[in-house]
Amino acid sequence: MGNASAETRYSPLIILTLLAALVAALGLWAREVSTGGAHNGNHEAQAAFGAERYTWKLVTTWPRHLPGLGLAAENFAQYVEAMSGGRLIIRVYGAGEIVPAMEVFDAVSQGVADAGHGAAYYWKGKIPSAVFFTAVPFGMNAQEMNGWLHYGGGLDLWRQAYAPHNLVPFAGGSTGVQMAGWFNREINSIDDLKGLKMRIPGLAGEVFAAAGGTAVRIAGGELYTAMQTGVIDALEWVGPYNDLAFGFQEVARYYYYPGWHEPGAMLEFIVNRQSLEALPEDLQAIVRHAARAVNQDMLDEYTARNNAALTRLVNEHDVQLRRLPDDVLRALWVGTRQALDELVEDDPLAASVYASYRNFYNGARSYHHISEQSYTNVRDTVLGDEAY
Ligand code: CA
Repeated sequence: MGNASAETRYSPLIILTLLAALVAALGLWAREVSTGGAHNGNHEAQAAFGAERYTWKLVTTWPRHLPGLGLAAENFAQYVEAMSGGRLIIRVYGAGEIVPAMEVFDAVSQGVADAGHGAAYYWKGKIPSAVFFTAVPFGMNAQEMNGWLHYGGGLDLWRQAYAPHNLVPFAGGSTGVQMAGWFNREINSIDDLKGLKMRIPGLAGEVFAAAGGTAVRIAGGELYTAMQTGVIDALEWVGPYNDLAFGFQEVARYYYYPGWHEPGAMLEFIVNRQSLEALPEDLQAIVRHAARAVNQDMLDEYTARNNAALTRLVNEHDVQLRRLPDDVLRALWVGTRQALDELVEDDPLAASVYASYRNFYNGARSYHHISEQSYTNVRDTVLGDEAY
């Protein structure tokens, strides 16, 4: 085959191939710079040249790179990219980068972002039942919440609650039992809560207010300064691993337990319905399973890191560790029961979520008397102070 004739014969084909590659590259570039999420791209042009690619924006209620809960969205993005072979790329934005922390729900609902990571109880002003999907005082722990959501009907109710807002929720990680929080004074009786200004969100904030305090809703990134400048007298955030990283030991002296208000705070991924439905089924499955993997991973990380962080807080920073007195906890429970009744009074959906929650909880608690709780008590009785 002569060179000249080969060139003559193949040149148009080479030019066509190059043109096709250019069109494909432009299509991908257009997808990358598209600001409106996956559903606004030119699907047909890309479908002609292989698997479609999608880019999502995910906004969070946490400062970027915050350890533990703040890394959930970044882990989620990594899992999704790896599992999809790069067909779904999720760009993560921390609080304030696209929208402030407390506007994440609206941003995803309206399609400003495709997805979000935060906590359902931040939105209780819009959706009263949302508190049950994060944590209610004296409620279920992480293990029980996961059971209720995934095998007890909880997640279906959550989807029902968010459907009018164009959102699909997923469990997005649990911190496990939190700490009661940081205080600038000792709490020896319920009267010591009177006049106290505390950052404490969710239903617990109402319980705290009923006990005579003032509950304030402040995003995590602003807490250190609020405590340092005396805007608040107390705060709850998460637990030793996160609280040490935020430096609260520098602005408060007393660190109280247990986290009566958040015995297993469940975080959330929210996804814009159109963004989710624009994905092919396999990518939707990847989103679901990546969220489920992150959900378990977070609890594992807190379980691994909290004790070391608490040891440092007490030994290196001289933090005063205190347990809330029983009569204070009992008073807070009385307030909780009343707040729950008021919450569901005028909201039929909240009433049915509460019914489902308490039914599951009563059963799990009953069984845990002879399983988890019995075992925890027995190992303390048998081992005592002896190391394992
Ligand atoms: Ca908390």
